[in-house]
Amino acid sequence: MQKVSVIGSGFSGLSAACFLAKSGADVTVFEKNSTNGGRARVFSEQGFTFDMGPSWYWMPDIFEQFFSNFGKKPQDYYDLVQLDPGFQIVFGKGETFVLPASMDGINAAFESIEKGSSAKLKKYLTEGQYMYEVGMKHLVYKPSFSWGEFVNYDVIKGVAKLHVFQSVSTHVRSYFKDERLIALMEFPVLFLGAMAKQIPALYSLMNYAALARGTWYPMGGMMRIAGAMEELATSLGVTFKTGCEIEKIEVENGIANAMRWKGGRTNTDGIIASGDYHHIEQVLLDEQHRNYDEKYWDSKTLAPSSLIFYIGVNKRIGKLIHHNLFFDSSMDTHSKEIYEDPQWPSDPLFYVCCPSKTDPTVAPDGMENLFILIPVAPGLQDTTVIRERYFKAVMKRVEAYCGEVIEPHIVYKKSYCINDFKSDYHAYKGNAYGLANTLMQTAVLKPSLRNKKVSNLFYAGQLTVPGPGVPPALISGQIAAEQLIKRFK
Ligand SMILES: Cc1cc2nc3c(=O)[nH]c(=O)nc-3n(C[C@H](O)[C@H](O)[C@H](O)COP(=O)(O)OP(=O)(O)OC[C@H]3O[C@@H](n4cnc5c(N)ncnc54)[C@H](O)[C@@H]3O)c2cc1C
Repeated sequence: MQKVSVIGSGFSGLSAACFLAKSGADVTVFEKNSTNGGRARVFSEQGFTFDMGPSWYWMPDIFEQFFSNFGKKPQDYYDLVQLDPGFQIVFGKGETFVLPASMDGINAAFESIEKGSSAKLKKYLTEGQYMYEVGMKHLVYKPSFSWGEFVNYDVIKGVAKLHVFQSVSTHVRSYFKDERLIALMEFPVLFLGAMAKQIPALYSLMNYAALARGTWYPMGGMMRIAGAMEELATSLGVTFKTGCEIEKIEVENGIANAMRWKGGRTNTDGIIASGDYHHIEQVLLDEQHRNYDEKYWDSKTLAPSSLIFYIGVNKRIGKLIHHNLFFDSSMDTHSKEIYEDPQWPSDPLFYVCCPSKTDPTVAPDGMENLFILIPVAPGLQDTTVIRERYFKAVMKRVEAYCGEVIEPHIVYKKSYCINDFKSDYHAYKGNAYGLANTLMQTAVLKPSLRNKKVSNLFYAGQLTVPGPGVPPALISGQIAAEQLIKRFK
């Protein structure tokens, strides 16, 4: 039986562990933190339960597909509810755009803003569906070792419809004129870690995912997904070793044959390294075994980091819904302050998640659980004073929109930012979502899933293919596991 080690218990590590165990390997997952889930960990304080990272459950089909590999469904582990409305966007002067769950409702909402836009939306989403289906079937599940993997009848036949060389921004603007609709359609690609003008229009498949496939929520919180995967992995025989930080990968003749941590060592036949790629290479491997050097990493466009506030409020807040995007300042200026001229944002856009609107288990009765996220450039100097300044500013904007005071009702507050991403996950420059999916960082152009000098070492997670986000992390773990299984055979 092959003995496999997985470094990291985020979604990609959990996914890889399940596939490897199913193939018959003896799998152990090593996680530096005390609990599993990686960036999707959870903590509880004073009756509030906070998801620390992801909060948007999109692409439910990818989760179904993952569990179906093991004869399971997500519903075997958690209750999934569709949010209606899916989300709201707050524009200037308190004006909001509320996105209903039904297509009829979405069409009516579009028409109320721009006459004739629902017909355009139909065409846009038909294209998006095509991109989504081709993307999921022929593009994202590839290891991306060579462009040849993508040469396929459907892809070639439909290459014009995939809009690979157009940006999302140009694509959206060729359909819609109203700035509010443009902001709505450009927002989902922010998940991919770059401005809409830098992301290939192929990724407008995200609009199809967000609008046509809906926004969902696993009751109990996003941590239920990681919990489900841990339960599945355990049932397949995977062993978890938490609080165990791997410090060295030992390599001999191009084969990784052991790993070391403080006070321990294990032999191994193969490794899936799902911790942050840069850390694994620069710290755990000797120089001659690395794929990339510091100069390479420094040249990459990282997805943003985030300044996050986890807040417990001792009253209900009327005007918030589950997902609230505050786009009441300039997206262009904020984007430039993240990507082009990295600095603390002058007047940031931000996001407020209020899961207690859907889920009574995440806050005590009559109270509200708030998660506020401000995207910021990775690598900035992070201090308590700066965090507090932004807290005051965003709280003022939330209070102005809600028309009520909130700050005096805060009974729990914790902030999380660049320094925490570095210390908790060894995140390069304190990134939150890995590497941006720009055209020049797509597929073969991303950091490779395989170590080119160590034949039984593969990488998984948001810094390699297919990219940032929970569904891509599930896929990344699967592809990496399949490559290692192939090598064993
Ligand atoms: C604040 C935030 C909000 C997000 N929102 C969303 C969202 O709404 N929807 C969505 O789809 N995606 C979202 N994402 C992105 C998504 O959460 C991530 O892309 C995904 O969870 C990454 O999984 P991963 O397995 O690649 O990495 P991680 O989750 O980072 O897992 C890697 C693990 O490796 C461990 N590790 C690192 N080094 C070592 C070592 N030497 N030894 C042992 N263990 C080690 C780390 O501790 C970590 O647990 C969000 C991310 C963040 C941070």
